[in-house]
Amino acid sequence: MTCARGHAIVLSGHTISARGEVRPSVVCRTPGCDFHDWVRLKDWTDGVLT
Ligand SMILES: [Zn+2]
Repeated sequence: MTCARGHAIVLSGHTISARGEVRPSVVCRTPGCDFHDWVRLKDWTDGVLT
């Protein structure tokens, strides 16, 4: 996925619920970017991912 500013974000270490909700919250690692948000993946159909 990407953050609101278009930086690539790797969801390693995150858990995705059956409804696409990513936990814990997602923080962009790109220097100078302050993106930090709770994310829900659109049209998530792969079930729980840990
Ligand atoms: Zn970013």
